[in-house]
Amino acid sequence: MNDSNTGAIRLQTQRSHYREHSVPLYLTSSFVFEDAEQARAVFAEEEAGQVYSRYANPNIDELLEKMCYLEKAEDGFAFASGMGAIFGSLGALLQSGDHVLACRSLFGSTHQLLTNIFPKWGVSYSYADAGNPEEWESLITPATKLILIETPSNPGLELIDLEWLGELKQKHNLLLVVDNCFATPVLQNPTDFGADLVLHSATKYIDGQGRVLGGIAVGKSDLIAQIRYFARHTGPAMSPFNAWVLSKSLETLRLRVEKHCENALKLAETLEGNPALEKVNYPFLPSFPQYELAKKQMRLGGGIVTLEVKGGYDAAKRFIDNLQMASISANLGDTRTIVTHPASTTHSKLSEQERAATGITPGLVRVSVGLESIADIISDVTQALERV
Ligand SMILES: *Cc1c(COP(=O)(O)O)cnc(C)c1O
Repeated sequence: MNDSNTGAIRLQTQRSHYREHSVPLYLTSSFVFEDAEQARAVFAEEEAGQVYSRYANPNIDELLEKMCYLEKAEDGFAFASGMGAIFGSLGALLQSGDHVLACRSLFGSTHQLLTNIFPKWGVSYSYADAGNPEEWESLITPATKLILIETPSNPGLELIDLEWLGELKQKHNLLLVVDNCFATPVLQNPTDFGADLVLHSATKYIDGQGRVLGGIAVGKSDLIAQIRYFARHTGPAMSPFNAWVLSKSLETLRLRVEKHCENALKLAETLEGNPALEKVNYPFLPSFPQYELAKKQMRLGGGIVTLEVKGGYDAAKRFIDNLQMASISANLGDTRTIVTHPASTTHSKLSEQERAATGITPGLVRVSVGLESIADIISDVTQALERV
């Protein structure tokens, strides 16, 4: 296969004797053995085969084969949610005494993991600013084990130069872990720059239709072996049903993500200069502070546009309440356009200062641009802004 899109469509678990075209759902907790000897051999890993769906399942294996292919990774493990993938991966790889260097602008629950949960087990962290490369190197200590980043970040849309970070991690012999949820493998492959592990909330663009939760970790096989051991014995496995849904969704991932990006760019271009807005942030707008970097490392600008409404929280609330079509919800990456007010919802657990440091102003509204016809999205957003 010359093209990753073909792989996302054609890679498929082995057909059963029924010769089905679409892969069946293997909704089974365990698998049977021909005899006691086969059971022994499969448990001893002398013979390949399914054992129990907390370990693996044909639907999960198919999803992982496609994700490894799309992310150019050696191996993977699937989790019940994106947070399961982040917690399970870091939990497997970190020891008491280790230090994590992360970008300051992180998904809200990932921030909780680093600041409140891992410290219970003696894992410390430091945050560096995306826009300040010297700061990163100065925060590395002998205890630093891994670098954890999001690019673009949620919801600040801050980018980190993956080529530069790949060199930094090489120089200091650290693991580089990238949450690639916002970009998806359609827009960038962190493994091209030396990332050791790529994490996904499959709940977002990979499902793309707002139905199921899922998390994916793909990367170097020695790391995945440690993650697999940790996850198999702690139980955050993905359901076979969710894996079946997500694997089907990958067949349309590129088509959907390209259309999300096309709609997002048109919306951002139309809204730039709107008198009700302080600012429109979108990586592929020339006015975006990191436009050059966005063009260098992302194939398209992504499906998220953020709007800074003039007049702070009250104006942002009026804008959201004036929308007639867009949904008010915490999810993103859905076919339907969704607006979120991060300061009062997804990032409300952060302090005022923490929010300010990551660009989450009281007037900031995150728009996950959907696949409705762009004329309808633009007219909904502009009428809501006119009435702010
Ligand atoms: C949503 C999200 C997560 C968490 O994923 P869940 O599937 O909701 O657990 C992690 N990282 C980013 C960037 C996200 O947007």
